[in-house]
Amino acid sequence: MLIQLKRALFLCMAASLFMYSGSGLQTVHASSVVHETKSQSDKGDLKENKAAPVDAKPVDLSELRRKYSETFKFRGPEVKQIALTFDDGPDPRFTPQILDVLHRKGIKATFFVVGVRAKKFPKLMQRIHQEGHLIGNHSFSHPNFRKRSVKQFQTEILRTEKIIQNSVGYRPKLIRPPYGEIREEQVQWAKKNGYTLVNWNVDSQDWKGIDKNKVKSNVIDTAGPGSIILQHSGGGVGSNLNGTIQALPEIIDTLQAQGYHFVDLAELLQTTKYR
Ligand SMILES: [Zn+2]
Repeated sequence: MLIQLKRALFLCMAASLFMYSGSGLQTVHASSVVHETKSQSDKGDLKENKAAPVDAKPVDLSELRRKYSETFKFRGPEVKQIALTFDDGPDPRFTPQILDVLHRKGIKATFFVVGVRAKKFPKLMQRIHQEGHLIGNHSFSHPNFRKRSVKQFQTEILRTEKIIQNSVGYRPKLIRPPYGEIREEQVQWAKKNGYTLVNWNVDSQDWKGIDKNKVKSNVIDTAGPGSIILQHSGGGVGSNLNGTIQALPEIIDTLQAQGYHFVDLAELLQTTKYR
């Protein structure tokens, strides 16, 4: 029971919980995973995951970040720069509206896309790219990699990489594991193959469908030099990202007034965009 609870709490750190059924994605919010039953969390992940090995004592994320600090990032250097990141797109319901705001404000951001959606919406992928934003790899079907093998991790990453390459012409260097979750062997594989893993240190919690003011305060109250901000540009069935879309212009104005410059993650982390 304790292990189940810990697992549910892990999920709570993250955005929306996807379930990939082969026919499409559904979202179960992580809060319901914690507050309702463990069966909610198990439904999505264990269904296609029965064979995945389970570590007795997995190395926790903060330890992984320390041990692999060159490969696994969650913030940039202490400079007056901030990177906005948008996960789980491309999604025709929300991504175009986010792109419109960024275009109006002249801001470049980073989009971590899910392969199953990137494949479905190549035009939207091209729009993100043509408007000067950086694209990163957010897996194919949005699994919790803690519960997957290295082989499954590779398959998810490489499959999505191919889709991204086919739509915008490059192989991203940056990977964001869904829910921020990853195992040591997967970090080692990423390192060996020249990827950079990027989590975040400011969580908007926008996936909960919260209103604009709440999204804004979640971001503004925690943002600082070198921050990586987590927002979303896509979601499952029934998700509502209007709060994040409406908050975005004010978040940008407020942080710019405090002297921050918005950059994409490659610039913030002083790394290359492609592999
Ligand atoms: Zn995600």
